[in-house]
Amino acid sequence: MIISGRYLLLPNGLLEDGAVLIADGIIEEVGKRDEIVRRNPSEEKRDFPKSIIMPGLICSHSHAYGAFARGMPLKTEPPKTFGEILERIWWRLDKKLKEEDIKYSGLVTAIDAIKHGTTSTLDHHASPYSIRGSLDVLSSAFKEVGLRSNLAYEVSDRDGLDKAEEGIKENVDFIKRHKDDDMITGSFGLHASLTLSDETLQKVVEASRELNVGFHIHVAEGIEDVSDSIRKSGKRVVERLWSHGILGERTIAVHAVHVSPLEVKILRETGTWVVHCPESNMNNAVGVSPVPFMMEMGVKVALGTDGMTMDMFRESKFMYLLHKLSTSDPRTMPPGRITDTVIKANSELMSIYTKRRVGIIQKGACADIIAVRYRPHTPMSWDNFPAHFVFGMESSQVEMVMTNGKIVFERGSILTVNEEKIAEKAERLAMDLWERIS
Ligand SMILES: [Zn+2]
Repeated sequence: MIISGRYLLLPNGLLEDGAVLIADGIIEEVGKRDEIVRRNPSEEKRDFPKSIIMPGLICSHSHAYGAFARGMPLKTEPPKTFGEILERIWWRLDKKLKEEDIKYSGLVTAIDAIKHGTTSTLDHHASPYSIRGSLDVLSSAFKEVGLRSNLAYEVSDRDGLDKAEEGIKENVDFIKRHKDDDMITGSFGLHASLTLSDETLQKVVEASRELNVGFHIHVAEGIEDVSDSIRKSGKRVVERLWSHGILGERTIAVHAVHVSPLEVKILRETGTWVVHCPESNMNNAVGVSPVPFMMEMGVKVALGTDGMTMDMFRESKFMYLLHKLSTSDPRTMPPGRITDTVIKANSELMSIYTKRRVGIIQKGACADIIAVRYRPHTPMSWDNFPAHFVFGMESSQVEMVMTNGKIVFERGSILTVNEEKIAEKAERLAMDLWERIS
């Protein structure tokens, strides 16, 4: 199939009247539309003359399991600290999740992602009373809709050592099972330093040897994580995790809100990825991650949503605005930093776990492509594309989504599953779940 549009967003340029030739889920050729059509006259053609053809966006940290929390009655006083948010919302919800809840949370999250032009996610899952097989249930739901994923089960001591052991096993089994499938891959999930003992950290490091993956863990999201780490080890969170061998080029440190300059240096030296989740940090009132400083220091920073949304256009705008306000300096976080993060860095991070590149339009990469109907009313070039992305482009303009070489969304409709039926069932399951939560 040939997909063409008014513009084609390449890794190092914007090509007018560009096209992509796709075969067997892979991008086979990239170039001018006329040339590609001339060389492949019998190929099926799909032209989007008013759109930018760009790589599908990637969410570098999500929680599909939290999908049923939307609008959930609290039944308690509103939480006033991050610790209370965990205890009163998330740890009450995740304990009650059953296999069918996990499946439908996955389906609605994947639908949400695809409709907003997000074609891959790195999802961090928790269901402490339905651990075994949970990652397969979730990844199958994602794949059914057409969402590429990297999944991790969050190991934690908060529900006892047996649950921690089960979580470790779930990660190991899943990672081993999905070594050769670029649609589904696994990394080793850990909840956060504050729910992990030294013994469990040692166990996960041992269990992860030979798997060739990194860890996916929340790091210094709330100040509670820092004080707990100092109490347990005399070290701050990044230092503690480093001393246990958790950091490295494949490890994902989510949030990194409360990090010292020394910890930033450790993140850089170890090549650890930081995933920034600005919308979630604002919602939980945990503070502002020193992302501009980390970027200047050379830390690799990617962008995730923490389950707030699956819309990376929206998340990008939060990242763009938050740091200007928090530094009282409009020069902070220019638009180029946003596209470098949400398009380039997210693609590099996701591609660590896949055999072929993901999130990039180039020969040999996975064919995850979106058409965004955006007609600029000012000149647009490679140089000012980031400003058009930040100020002009939105997920409502997404008119076509392709994952793994297959069109999964077009003209407002998901083509892979029955969205209405899934929403109806999800609503019933959510109501049941809310009733089970005391
Ligand atoms: Zn998270």
